[in-house]
Amino acid sequence: MATKCFNEVDPVCGMVLNSCTADFTEDFEGKTYGFCSQKCKDLFHGNPKRHIENPASHVGMPGPREIPEKH
Ligand SMILES: [Zn+2]
Repeated sequence: MATKCFNEVDPVCGMVLNSCTADFTEDFEGKTYGFCSQKCKDLFHGNPKRHIENPASHVGMPGPREIPEKH
């Protein structure tokens, strides 16, 4: 099943999504964001705006990294 994704890169970890057939997607403000894994989807779900405004860059990291929130 093909899923139409708004993004081409996972905003949480920076992984390039080869095609918009991501199994893990999240709708936010009318756009469908795709992710590489359930974990990234969950992280995005916890704070969508943070990941949209400060998306991860693709740096070849082995996995997503938690960035501490500033309070
Ligand atoms: Zn990811």
